[in-house]
Amino acid sequence: MTTIKLHNTKTRKREDFVPIDPENVRMYVCGPTVYDRAHLGNARPVIVFDVLYRLLRHVYGPDHVTYVRNFTDVDDKINARAAESGRSIGEITAETTQWFLDDMAAVGALEPNEMPRATAYIPQMVKMIEDLIAKGHAYPAEGHVLFRVRSYEKYGALSGRSVDDMIAGARVEVAPYKEDPMDFVLWKPSDDATPGWDSPWGRGRPGWHIECSAMADELLWKKPLSEDRLSDEAKKHPHVFDIHGGGLDLQFPHHEDEIAQSCCANGTDEMARYWLHNEMLQVEGKKMSKSLGNFFTVRDLLDQGVPGEVIRFVMLSTHYRKPMDWTEKKREEAEKTLRTWRELVANRKGDQPHAVIISALSDDLNTPLAISGLHALAKEVERTGSGWSTLKASANLLGLLTDELGDWFDEIDDAPTADVSLIVEGLLAKRDAARRAKNFALSDSIRDSLDEAGVYLLDTREGSSWSLRPDFDPAKLEALK
Ligand code: AMP
Ligand code: ZN
Repeated sequence: MTTIKLHNTKTRKREDFVPIDPENVRMYVCGPTVYDRAHLGNARPVIVFDVLYRLLRHVYGPDHVTYVRNFTDVDDKINARAAESGRSIGEITAETTQWFLDDMAAVGALEPNEMPRATAYIPQMVKMIEDLIAKGHAYPAEGHVLFRVRSYEKYGALSGRSVDDMIAGARVEVAPYKEDPMDFVLWKPSDDATPGWDSPWGRGRPGWHIECSAMADELLWKKPLSEDRLSDEAKKHPHVFDIHGGGLDLQFPHHEDEIAQSCCANGTDEMARYWLHNEMLQVEGKKMSKSLGNFFTVRDLLDQGVPGEVIRFVMLSTHYRKPMDWTEKKREEAEKTLRTWRELVANRKGDQPHAVIISALSDDLNTPLAISGLHALAKEVERTGSGWSTLKASANLLGLLTDELGDWFDEIDDAPTADVSLIVEGLLAKRDAARRAKNFALSDSIRDSLDEAGVYLLDTREGSSWSLRPDFDPAKLEALK
């Protein structure tokens, strides 16, 4: 069996991935807070962990992997959005959740096995908070419940920092009801205008972190692993699952807090075995932000006609642990590459992915290396006129060249008019003649001007074929006559 290597944030090392129970590989990834369209940065963890999900399914079998990604549908940002828009919270979260699912499907992400909404798991959160109080790790104060950070010795171990260092660097909220400024909120009181649930501490709502601890335990330990499906090895590690993922910005405090809550409530010494964090996305070398005017959503790009597959390709061309820069140039190149590949595999079925691609992905999800591998496979197809099925299956493992993402290619591949065909064919004949006469300067310049006009050329051993790109400019072609 393929050994997957993953860089574990917890140990700061690249490690062999050994699942607790290979029959039940379990992964949790923190999902979005649903109050607005997902921005391009939000798509990065979705696409990165989708590739990991696909790889795990390939190695362990699709029925042996459980992937959970939550929706945070109780949050003060949602309450603020409801107040300013005059719409109900339920309406906003339902609409945003559907937007998220549509946009992520458009970039080729498979749906996780479970997508729990936080508000559906309030009783589990209350129970966990009660356990934490009973064990001395949390305390109620003025309608709040706070986690007593100093009661958990290993707090900060994920990031490898001491509590004091973290306090120095963090914007911790000092509040009179806290024993220590570092203590974080598990539960807080709600007024009449704010969503709330009855609890032993009065009507209130959960803090942000507790939902992931409660839902991960419910869906990755209690629910899917009925006693008869539990391997002996899994029974030895109650409440622990294999992989926990999210963006780097979540490492502290969110993931440190999740670990503290889960380990203290469940009496375990770890929450998950492997912690993976994706680096952040930037735009043209700058942090994406509304004030810099370079902030856009996935939907903005899709509406501008950027195919979801192109977004996915650009994302995967940078390794997930490196900052990723979205640029117009990368977008253009990705589209050209995908167009070539789609031409090559048109109407073909995939069979087995190539070993080179599996080994690149198994090397801590080295997607840039896998993409170079795909380039090499595509070159091989052009050269030999065979191997389409391997190229297709290999790309599919990265969620590329899938049938689901193929609409953009079919749609814009409209038949050109007779006039256009005549000009292009004429230029191609001229180019062939130039090549035969070894006048490569001329043949290259014809190729370049066709490219410039938006005519896409594909040369294979059997000859050349062409099609019109969406940026096809009839005036430019006309000028080449
Ligand atoms: P949020 O809705 O802000 O909680 O974020 C949802 C997910 O998107 C989390 O895993 C974040 O780490 C991730 N995320 C947010 N902004 C970026 C960004 N600029 N680049 C990469 N990931 C991001
Ligand atoms: Zn989380």
